[in-house]
Amino acid sequence: MSRLIIVSNRLPVSVTLEGRDFELRQSPGGLATGLGSVHGGRGSVWVGWPGTFVPTGDSRTRMRITRRLVESRCRPVFLSRSELDDYYRGFSNRTLWPLFHYFPTLAEPNWSFWRAYQMVNARFADRVAEIWREGDLIWVHDYHLMLLPGFLRRRVPHATVGFFLHIPFPSFEVFRLLPWRRELLEGVLGADVVGFHNYDYTRHFLSCARHILGFEHRFDRVAIDSRSVAVDAFPMGIDYERFNRPAASIARRRLETVTRVPARRRRRILSIDRLDYTKGIVERLDSYDAFLDLHPEYRGKIELVLLVVPSRTRVERYRDLREQIDRAVGRINGRYGGIDWTPVHYLYRSVPFERLVALYESADVALVTPLRDGMNLVSKEYVACQVDGHGVLVLSETAGAAEELAEALLVNPYDRLQNVAALAQALSMPEEEQVRRMRLMQDRLRRYDVRAWAADFIGRLRRCRQEQRREKDRRLAGPVRSRLIAAWSRARARLLLLDYDGTLVPFSAQPEAARPDLRLLSLLRRLSSPPGNELVIVSGRARKALDDWFGGLAAGLVAEHGAWVKCSGEDWQPAMRGQSQRWKESVRPVIQRFVVRTPGSEMEEKDFSLVWHYRRVGSELAVARLAELKDVLIELTANRRLEILEGSKVLEVRNAGTGKGRGIAPWLRRPGAGFVLAAGDDRTDEDLFGALPDRAWTVKVGPGPSQARFYVESPARLRALLERMARAT
Ligand code: UDP
Repeated sequence: MSRLIIVSNRLPVSVTLEGRDFELRQSPGGLATGLGSVHGGRGSVWVGWPGTFVPTGDSRTRMRITRRLVESRCRPVFLSRSELDDYYRGFSNRTLWPLFHYFPTLAEPNWSFWRAYQMVNARFADRVAEIWREGDLIWVHDYHLMLLPGFLRRRVPHATVGFFLHIPFPSFEVFRLLPWRRELLEGVLGADVVGFHNYDYTRHFLSCARHILGFEHRFDRVAIDSRSVAVDAFPMGIDYERFNRPAASIARRRLETVTRVPARRRRRILSIDRLDYTKGIVERLDSYDAFLDLHPEYRGKIELVLLVVPSRTRVERYRDLREQIDRAVGRINGRYGGIDWTPVHYLYRSVPFERLVALYESADVALVTPLRDGMNLVSKEYVACQVDGHGVLVLSETAGAAEELAEALLVNPYDRLQNVAALAQALSMPEEEQVRRMRLMQDRLRRYDVRAWAADFIGRLRRCRQEQRREKDRRLAGPVRSRLIAAWSRARARLLLLDYDGTLVPFSAQPEAARPDLRLLSLLRRLSSPPGNELVIVSGRARKALDDWFGGLAAGLVAEHGAWVKCSGEDWQPAMRGQSQRWKESVRPVIQRFVVRTPGSEMEEKDFSLVWHYRRVGSELAVARLAELKDVLIELTANRRLEILEGSKVLEVRNAGTGKGRGIAPWLRRPGAGFVLAAGDDRTDEDLFGALPDRAWTVKVGPGPSQARFYVESPARLRALLERMARAT
């Protein structure tokens, strides 16, 4: 049976050593609860740090702990104190965490942290590789393990691996500051599916992959050599019922016990965070201070419950932050409070679940204003607990949750006056409006809860595994390759239709530099000379280049994507006759204008087409200009017998009805060859594949969808195959 292997820094249970004995407790944090539903079944294993240190030499204790953890389907990765210090407290929390939350000045570029991070990620890879079995899905979590997917790709190349980042992925301008940006990106791209909380993070990641590694993406898939990686947004939900149900019973109990009209209580504003500088707690207190200053009418009528959950207490910056909060609370309570009113009730601790729900349920307003937050679950949990629909959420626009909770009052956490105004609006919002906003948010959270989130991601991984299996069957290697060679040797008449750029030679930034090398020419000569063999080069290039390069071979030539045809030993013939080229008068100036506006691009004029080349254009600009040019051309060519064709880094306008499929017609009309093979790499070659009979060996070079029956990874692979065929002639 195939299993799901979940991998995260911490296991969902922590081990606490008590003398020679130990105890297991549920680990803190949303991930353990979130994935609890998935880990509930028998088909999963969880790999992570068990939360305790056991010396390497004490293998007995390690064994005992491992045995106990196996009962909960957990596998420990033991770490030493110094490893944990450098990898977790160091690289994860003092380098990646601040940078990814847009605090680059706090990020420490420390090489020993980095070395520990690499080492621990490799240790995790060992552990996962040990337990992985064919068919298992692997789901790696969060910024602690960004190198792990890449390590796994090397250790277990055929594994299906997913990666989910629970914190923001910053924009390229911030991410590029990391000395290890390439390694981290390559690490993540070892996965088959990469998930983020929202679309902005996805966009940032794709842009980094393009700028830093030069990997292009289409429809949120990054193409890497022979693989492609799906990158998408999966906003993490909460266990809605786990909050909503107890909140409903608290509300019911209150209704039952209140027998007379209650005394008017103070309106309660709630603030709950882990202690962290990204949460904007001090800024929030400053806004509350300004609110009380500007709205004296609310003094004595409201109270702020400030719950701060201790976190990373051994890091100095967090200790400083705690002092700042203490001072701000003291200042506000000193300035406005009195014997009968405390403006801020400050709790520095974590509270049990029932108490947490009661706090959410009783709050009239939740102030959730982090400076930056990957998602923020507190805001969602608050919404889930507003059983009667009363309550207002004030939420930072820089929290990932803001994308789904658009009915909240969205604020810029740095804009104090806007925060003051939002609090005033929240406290005076009519009840019907509160309910209307709340119900919309609740519906959304109920539908896309944490189970739906996990099922969505795992479903995507499963589909990916199916695609991989199908891909494996399409790969022209092993027995399929042997069958091909056998069919080739048996046949008396053979037809080879080969594209040139990207198929027989890799793409070059200078198209004129991509001339065939001597080995290639020798190979093509050996393939074309035996009687019964027919070789045709089917290219997008102009006639002259093909004549210069291949004129000496006994080969057919098809130029300009099928517009010109030359059978071996004959002259060039147009594939279609009587086509007017007057359309060029109006299209040429448009493309020329784009050439001027887009440095690095150029126009090529062929007999039947005009081509815009943008291989040397910076990637972001190329995408923008391509979309613009396509728009203009679609309008310009409407109702004319023209077609627009997108090739690899080229956009071509040409007379309709040409195309490579038409270009090869003379060879297809001849008495049937027993063996037909066509190879190509881009969309213009799809036309070629489509024109061939089903029995033909159609081969796509490189990754991506295609109607070709088979694929090889690169021009080098195709040439190796052709060499083998030449030897078997
Ligand atoms: N939380 C908790 N104990 C508390 C207060 C809060 O376990 O005393 C939980 C809360 O229910 C939420 C999580 O801590 O699920 C905080 O998640 P969030 O995404 O808001 O912030 P993070 O701490 O992950 O940055």
